[in-house]
Amino acid sequence: MAEVTGKQVVELKDVSKVYEGPAGDIHALREVNLTVGEGEFIGVRGPSGSGKSTLLNMITGIDRPSDGQITIAGQDIVGLNENQLARWRGKQVGVIFQFFQLLPTLTVIENIMLPMEFARAWKAKERPKRAMELLEQVDLADQAFKLPNTLSGGQLQRAAIARSLANDPPLVVADEPTGNLDSKTADRVFALFEGLVDRGVTFMMVTHDNSLAERFPRLLHVADGYLSDKNNGHKA
Ligand code: ADP
Repeated sequence: MAEVTGKQVVELKDVSKVYEGPAGDIHALREVNLTVGEGEFIGVRGPSGSGKSTLLNMITGIDRPSDGQITIAGQDIVGLNENQLARWRGKQVGVIFQFFQLLPTLTVIENIMLPMEFARAWKAKERPKRAMELLEQVDLADQAFKLPNTLSGGQLQRAAIARSLANDPPLVVADEPTGNLDSKTADRVFALFEGLVDRGVTFMMVTHDNSLAERFPRLLHVADGYLSDKNNGHKA
């Protein structure tokens, strides 16, 4: 496993999130404190509705906290406006969803290049080569010029992993990325995540899968908006 460097990638201080519901306020997160170091591999568990997605959405800036401070890779993201947040996210965070969210009218390789175009992070003529290298890393180069609807679930998730790495982000966050895959495919996708961590990426993922949860060096548990932290018995 890659070394944990001691540099902090994620820092949440007293983060709360309150949604207004028809039956009153919903406290999705309650004064959550969390520090994640560079190179950590973290699982997030908890019952449905406990606040796991809200936690990830705070870290990616997809949603904003009601209170508290959030610093990601040295950037205070609470003070950014929507445009700044979108640009920041495009470069600094890779996001992987349960249902892949590839654009159906673009080929696989075009989907991988899209975040590069958005972030203007690579020269236009370098993008196809870089996208192909990312597809090779997830063993999907032979599907590069196909449309997403011709791929299997496992292939789609591997494409989404390649896309999350498009701009070489220090942090990759995944919300139940194996939730829609059979166990063998889930295992293969999980091995890819382990490979990313070996290469120094900081990785956080929500999972419901008991057998996968045991494989995280650090496991966070969310219950009713509260966060508890458990070292999984591995070397931190
Ligand atoms: P989990 O990911 O653990 O299933 P969530 O973070 O999605 O939990 O949700 C935590 C709580 O916040 C739940 O009670 C949920 O209904 C509520 N919630 C989440 N998003 C919203 C929203 N956009 N508007 C209102 N309530 C929400």
